[in-house]
Amino acid sequence: MKRETILVIGANGQIGTALLPRLQAQYGLNSVVGADLRRAPSEQGIFELLDATKADELAELVSRYGVTQIYHLAAVLSAKGETDPLGAWNLNMQTLLNVLEVARVQQIRKVFIPSSIAAFGEHAPKFETPQTASLDPATVYGISKVAAENWSLYYHKRYGLDVRSLRYPGIISYQSMPGGGTTDYAVAIFHAAVQGQPFECFLAPDTLLPMMYMDDALRATLELMEASENRISVRTSYNLAGMSFAPAELTASIQAYFPEFTVQYKPDFRQAIADSWPRTIDDSVARHDWGWKPEFDLPRMTQEMITQLSTVYHTLIPTH
Ligand code: NAD
Repeated sequence: MKRETILVIGANGQIGTALLPRLQAQYGLNSVVGADLRRAPSEQGIFELLDATKADELAELVSRYGVTQIYHLAAVLSAKGETDPLGAWNLNMQTLLNVLEVARVQQIRKVFIPSSIAAFGEHAPKFETPQTASLDPATVYGISKVAAENWSLYYHKRYGLDVRSLRYPGIISYQSMPGGGTTDYAVAIFHAAVQGQPFECFLAPDTLLPMMYMDDALRATLELMEASENRISVRTSYNLAGMSFAPAELTASIQAYFPEFTVQYKPDFRQAIADSWPRTIDDSVARHDWGWKPEFDLPRMTQEMITQLSTVYHTLIPTH
């Protein structure tokens, strides 16, 4: 088997921070190159500073390491994107096109480019949103994801590039803080609860959204990337589901451990973004094509987050 060298762009973000150790464990510490605009407080393995909007910097890095696979995680996310729509568009599109081009020119074997539930908008069914629902997103972030899905399909059809993608729901993890999305409350709420602080939630209590625990998101990513090519029927991006819950349900789940924990609901501009997204996702195509099956539901995710963050903050894990 050919030796793989994997480049992770945006390696110090929420997903990259958790994905890097998994890839290092699987492929070896010296076979994974993490790259980001900024350095992380602690780094293990190979790291390179990179601005992926600069095509020549990216091409030089890919060629220097003999990269065979790219995970392109650099992006401006939904809520942050709305504070500077043109800046978000420029960054998301320029980095995307640079990755697709370097992959084409340097004949990269496989590329992973995540999409999001933010690709859906007003005209997609809100419940069990199907794989092929219409894509008319309300945010510039969503528009950039729809464009990225179509560019990926184009590079696959026109150049035979093996590009694969998942429409991630909101991802919940303890390893790092999220980077400016509309589902970030579902991570921040655990940090408050475990530290014994009250929490102010920027979404209304009944805002049902698709979510996923990081372990499931990483497993889905690696299973998709390892699936044989003939099992991949979707070259835009696969719907992917873990669980769906509203802030009030998450609060109740946390209060089973911390009965004193309180949440105040103060919806802001992110409420309108959340309202434009699906409530639940139909991921039957991913299940059929490459055997996707989530493992974490709300109670299991809550227990895992509280256990992990209790270690981070050195608090006692309350008995359930
Ligand atoms: P994040 O914001 O936490 O991390 C993105 C990283 O990219 C940051 O470390 C940032 O420094 C880096 N970056 C930004 N511009 C760069 C550039 N020009 N060159 C190099 N690095 C740059 O994002 P994330 O949550 O890890 O998301 C990763 C991918 O997954 C994104 O495409 C995002 O849209 C998608 N996604 C994430 C979620 C989620 O809940 N986290 C949900 C759906 C989709």
